[in-house]
Amino acid sequence: MIAPSHRTLETPLDYAALPREELVERIRRRKAERNAVILGHNYQRVEIQEVSDFLGDSLELSQEAAATPAEVIVFCGVRFMAETAKVLSPRKTVLMPDLRAGCPMADMVDAPGLRRLKARYPDAVVVAYVNSSAEVKAEADICCTSANAVRVVESVPPDRPILFVPDRNLARYVRERTGRTNIIAWDGYCHVHDDMVLEELERARREHPGALVVIHPEARKDLLERADVVTSTSGMVRLAQEHEALIIGTERGLVDRLRQQFPHKTLIPLSGAAVCGNMKLNTLAKLAWSLDHLRYEVVLEEEIRARAEASLKKMLELSGGWGRPSGAPALAGAPGGPRGCGCA
Ligand code: SF4
Repeated sequence: MIAPSHRTLETPLDYAALPREELVERIRRRKAERNAVILGHNYQRVEIQEVSDFLGDSLELSQEAAATPAEVIVFCGVRFMAETAKVLSPRKTVLMPDLRAGCPMADMVDAPGLRRLKARYPDAVVVAYVNSSAEVKAEADICCTSANAVRVVESVPPDRPILFVPDRNLARYVRERTGRTNIIAWDGYCHVHDDMVLEELERARREHPGALVVIHPEARKDLLERADVVTSTSGMVRLAQEHEALIIGTERGLVDRLRQQFPHKTLIPLSGAAVCGNMKLNTLAKLAWSLDHLRYEVVLEEEIRARAEASLKKMLELSGGWGRPSGAPALAGAPGGPRGCGCA
């Protein structure tokens, strides 16, 4: 029974008028009533991270979702992530607090478009970056993250062409790392990483000459060529543990988290503008509304879900099997801090 002060309100705007403490208390109560968990992506607002049961990248969180006994999962990230959680947890109720939280890069490829490309290359193997819809994953042979993309591509017989979707920058990076010339890349990109420019990198280097420059492979070639290390966000987290000064080329939510974790270190965002607005659509008020109203529920056709699951599981088997990540619980007590492979 919810106390009078916790009566259900109608819209997220009604919730936005409530004090922060009341929102946090409502979320705590409803979570217990619903047997729910809150999964927060590394790039979420700090207010979301603070009430999340688990923090991480999308795949880690989806694996947490599959492992948890909770019946309701509120995924604070973007749509493809909530879909991945549903793919791996078909019997659980998966919610996303804001339906508009999509990923522009994932939306650059759809299943009909991919089917047309497949028809032109009937002997090709389709590798789908996990930053893609469930329908696109269902059309793929295997998924990859930025951390395991090279290994996934190397697992494909050399004589088979590869259709790599949707990130052209990650595809180019993998092509250079593997030396394969038969990778056909979809022309998609993450604007957050693609918009980082050389001038920003050079300025950061001038201002912090001793700092190691680490850049995510979703960035453009000219930046990657000047990086000291090209790595996924899990690699960035490791480097932040080992080094005193880093210039970090990825979404700045990760940089903000690392700064909280290592306040004595010099951790500089390569670009102050590297912010994913879609990731920031989730707020405490929308989260409280989502838990009260059990919305918005992610629903997938079973046939699509099962085929997407097959592509994801093939990747997981290649990467050492299905395993529950040692999930970072919540911001304050996160042992080892954020991990992961970028947005994915
Ligand atoms: S950071 Fe890039 S890849 Fe991640 S959700 Fe935003 S647009 Fe998509």
